[in-house]
Amino acid sequence: MDSKILNAMKDHVLELGPEPSSGPYRHFKLTRDEDGIAWLLFDREGASANTLSSEVLEEFSQILSVLESERPSGLVLRSAKRSGFIAGADINEFRGLSDVSIVEQQLGHGHDILNRLENIKLPTVAVIHGFCLGGGLEVVLACNMRIAIEGARFGFPEILLGLHPGFGGTARATHLFNPLEAMTMMLTGKTVEARKAKALGLVDAVTQERHVRNAVKDAIFGRLKRKRLKLTTLMNLGPARKLLASRMRKEAANKAPQENYPAPYALIDLWEKHGGNRADMLAAEKPSFAKLMVTSTAQNLIRVFFLRDEMKKLAGGKSKIRHVHVIGAGAMGGDIASWCAHQGLRVTLADMQPAAIANAMKRAADLFAKIARGRIAQRDTLDRLIPDMTGEGAKQADLIIEAVPEKLQLKQSIYAGLEKVMRPDAILATNTSSIPLEELRASLQRPERLLGIHFFNPVSRLQLVEVISHDQVDQEALATAMKFVGGIDRLPLPVKSSPGFLVNRALMPYLMEALLMLDEKVDKLTIDEAAEKFGMPMGPIELADQVGLDICLAVGDELRAKLGDSIPVAPDWLRDKVAKGELGRKTGRGFYEWKDGRVQKGHAHVHATPEMTDRLVLPMSNVCVACLREGIVDNPDTVDGAMIFGTGYAPFRGGPLNYARERGPENVANALLVLAEKYGERFKPDAGWATFR
Ligand code: NAD
Repeated sequence: MDSKILNAMKDHVLELGPEPSSGPYRHFKLTRDEDGIAWLLFDREGASANTLSSEVLEEFSQILSVLESERPSGLVLRSAKRSGFIAGADINEFRGLSDVSIVEQQLGHGHDILNRLENIKLPTVAVIHGFCLGGGLEVVLACNMRIAIEGARFGFPEILLGLHPGFGGTARATHLFNPLEAMTMMLTGKTVEARKAKALGLVDAVTQERHVRNAVKDAIFGRLKRKRLKLTTLMNLGPARKLLASRMRKEAANKAPQENYPAPYALIDLWEKHGGNRADMLAAEKPSFAKLMVTSTAQNLIRVFFLRDEMKKLAGGKSKIRHVHVIGAGAMGGDIASWCAHQGLRVTLADMQPAAIANAMKRAADLFAKIARGRIAQRDTLDRLIPDMTGEGAKQADLIIEAVPEKLQLKQSIYAGLEKVMRPDAILATNTSSIPLEELRASLQRPERLLGIHFFNPVSRLQLVEVISHDQVDQEALATAMKFVGGIDRLPLPVKSSPGFLVNRALMPYLMEALLMLDEKVDKLTIDEAAEKFGMPMGPIELADQVGLDICLAVGDELRAKLGDSIPVAPDWLRDKVAKGELGRKTGRGFYEWKDGRVQKGHAHVHATPEMTDRLVLPMSNVCVACLREGIVDNPDTVDGAMIFGTGYAPFRGGPLNYARERGPENVANALLVLAEKYGERFKPDAGWATFR
């Protein structure tokens, strides 16, 4: 066979050294090759990816004892999983930790093991393919040498869980390569690819599978040339650290305040105080990490990590949907279509205006250029997205998604046409934000085929999709819709049809209250600050501009008509603004000016009061409690997940219900009562607070 083909085949098989026998270990295999090199293969039992649990570390410690006494000529550490090297620590073990001293003690044990790996009297080399994250990267840093397989990715995602590395990674990374780069990796959680890792000095070589044996030999027998950077030592000197640390603190403060996200500040302090001495930094990392682990920020972010998993599971299996037909190529329809094509589905996109389709195709091409992997993938994705002016696609599609303007009669007339041509087993889904399905289905011959698949804007960024049912829906169609949402890498939330469903009903009081505050002459920057200080990704005034003031008004009116006094009345001047075409981001002007899609805003001169924050955020918790009581949603955890993944609700607060639980349900209900007396019925605490725990 052609040697090129043979080599290409070899690159798909992991080079794992001599054939391993079963051996005494559960998670590892240990073999020895003809050069006396020990190959230690990590293959966590019963898992598709390797993670570090305390049991795994315990076994690793036993193996170190064997190696310490047997003294092979060198040690190669590799993962036997195709999925990658090590995905990080086993986060299950982080849940519910509340005792700092216990965390520190457990961490100390992990440190001891990695110190032993670092100090073992034989050359050690890690060979890394796929993802090497968090604790996995910390193990690698305790080896003498690192060889990356092309395409490997390295990163410290701890910061996303409100933590920093805790197995010595902070000290080892900042002393192995440019500490500024190491700190950036730890502060952002972003990954770097193998070649960048080599340029940084994080790995010593990048190779392909077929060269692994030779690369390992070179490393173990001292033939691997390693780059050591003088800059690393210089930048760890006191004055440089002080200067850089203050810059990093400023950047961290631009993203989030210390009281909400303490981890970046703790990491910067750690390096500033102890970066001059590796051993000191190793020691100081333990208490710093332990302190972070028991904060409500870290515990809530860990909970959110699992909420995402739970919501993924709600999808309930593999989707069989292959062809989606989208009607309405506007803001939502266009983006839904391009997302589905990106996820591998065949998509036909219909609209009555050719310009709308052309615009959607352009936005799709821009999106694919950003997120598709490589030019071929980009072209294939675009090929899957088919403009369909005549609406032919509706005849073959497995799923039809309607995303035309929010008008009952318009939607019903489109359904009448569709019912004549769509396949009997196809599903008809609406992306309506607020019209109850009971009204939409009224004119249908087969109302059981209709359901809601409600995406959020922007589709590619907000992971939540509400899947709306009604009492006549076909249960199999509903299950298929849940699977479809999971299949396009979004998180489905099952919701019963009702005005605004869950997310818009909870979000609308937040937006409308902000407008009432404007009427009270509170500065818009102060109002936004009230929410941003709480941890929202943007304040309600900026959000209203982002969503579009026309949409806010339409949804606000629709919800007030259905839900009455719990939704504030939209002020008249909002109607004037909309009539004038000042719609927010999309027209370049709303409450703020917008340039190239970016808001132009400064800082508030008058600071927000805690009451202002309560006025904005407590109604969200109130609506969530009401939706649970009314049976619109059935699980408080997924309600929290929905608000985080659908609106960006401060993740470190763990969602509006978790926030209420932490603050105390009684305290929240009382605060609402006080607001109701002062500002009106819209704050009336829901009856559900009486039983909410
Ligand atoms: P849009 O006005 O941007 O787009 C609607 C598109 O539908 C336009 O391109 C229009 O030409 C087309 N259209 C109108 N009549 C048609 C017909 N008879 N046949 C084919 N196409 C037709 O609207 P949008 O913001 O994308 O909203 C669409 C739906 O999605 C609405 O139900 C809205 O409530 C919902 N939604 C909107 C958002 C949002 O943030 N914009 C978020 C979630 C859900």
